[in-house]
Amino acid sequence: RPYVRLQNIVKRYGAHAAIDELSLDIFQGEFFALLGPSGCGKSTLLRMLAGFTEPTSGRILLDGEDVAAVPPYRRPVNMMFQSYALFPHMTVEDNIAFGLKQDGVARAEIRARVDEVVQMVQLGPFVKRKPHQLSGGQCQRVALARSLVKRPKLLLLDEPLGALDKKLREQTQFELMDIRAKLGMTFVIVTHDQAEAMTMASRIAVMDHGRIVQVGTPAELYEYPE
Ligand code: ADP
Ligand code: ADP
Repeated sequence: RPYVRLQNIVKRYGAHAAIDELSLDIFQGEFFALLGPSGCGKSTLLRMLAGFTEPTSGRILLDGEDVAAVPPYRRPVNMMFQSYALFPHMTVEDNIAFGLKQDGVARAEIRARVDEVVQMVQLGPFVKRKPHQLSGGQCQRVALARSLVKRPKLLLLDEPLGALDKKLREQTQFELMDIRAKLGMTFVIVTHDQAEAMTMASRIAVMDHGRIVQVGTPAELYEYPE
C-alpha cells in the first residue's frame, strides 16, 4: 500500500483553488519530487502533508492513517524549510538537538543521535559555531541534520538547494540521494528546477495550476516530454 495517499485534494484560498482535485500515491522509500513553476501549488501541497494546513476537501492518508485523526506531534513526518529557520543564538549542536530535547529524549541518546547526523552531513568541525559563523551551505546542512535527527519516516524538503550556488547544489544533490538511501526513509522534495528533479528523484509529479499534469520516473517523463 502507498505510504502517502492524497485523495481528491482541494485547497481554496477564497475563490482561488491553489490545489484543484489532486490525487497522488507515494511509496515508502521513494525520492519523490514535486516539480513546477512558482505558484503552481507545490508548497501548499507540502504544507498539507506536514499538517500545517488542512485541505478544503479530500483526504490525506499517511501509512494508512487519516492525518486529520493523528495529532501533529505523532505524525511520522518532518519538514525542512527553504529558509532553514535555525535558532540564531544556539550552536550547531544545540540547533540539531533542540527537537529531541523537546520530545524528552534521554541525554545520552541525544548525544549519540546528534553525533551520528553530524557525521552524516559532515558538520563535525563546526558543532560549536552559531549560524552567523557558518556559510549558506553549512546552514543548509544544519537544517537537514535537524530534520534527520528526529528520524521521521517521511521527510519533506521545500527547495532544499534553492539558496546554494551552482557547484554546491550539484554536490548536495548526490549527498541527499546517499542519505535517503542509507536511512531508507521517504523524501518528498519541492523544486522548480527540472534538471535537479531528474537527477535526484525516483519519481516526479509535474504540477501546473494546482493539478498534476504528469507523473512518472525521470526516464518516463524524458521519453514523453510535455
Ligand atoms: P508554489 O509553492 O508552487 O510556488 P504555492 O503553493 O506557494 O505555490 O502557492 C499556490 C497558489 O496559492 C499561489 O497562487 C499562491 O499565491 C496561493 N497561496 C498560497 N498560500 C496562500 C495563502 N496562505 N493565502 C492565500 N493564497 C495562498
Ligand atoms: P514559496 O514560493 O516558497 O511557497 P511563498 O512566497 O509562495 O513561498 O509563500 C510564503 C508564505 O506566504 C506561505 O506561508 C504562504 O502560505 C503565504 N502566501 C503565499 N501566497 C499568498 C497569497 N497570495 N496571499 C497570502 N499569503 C500567501
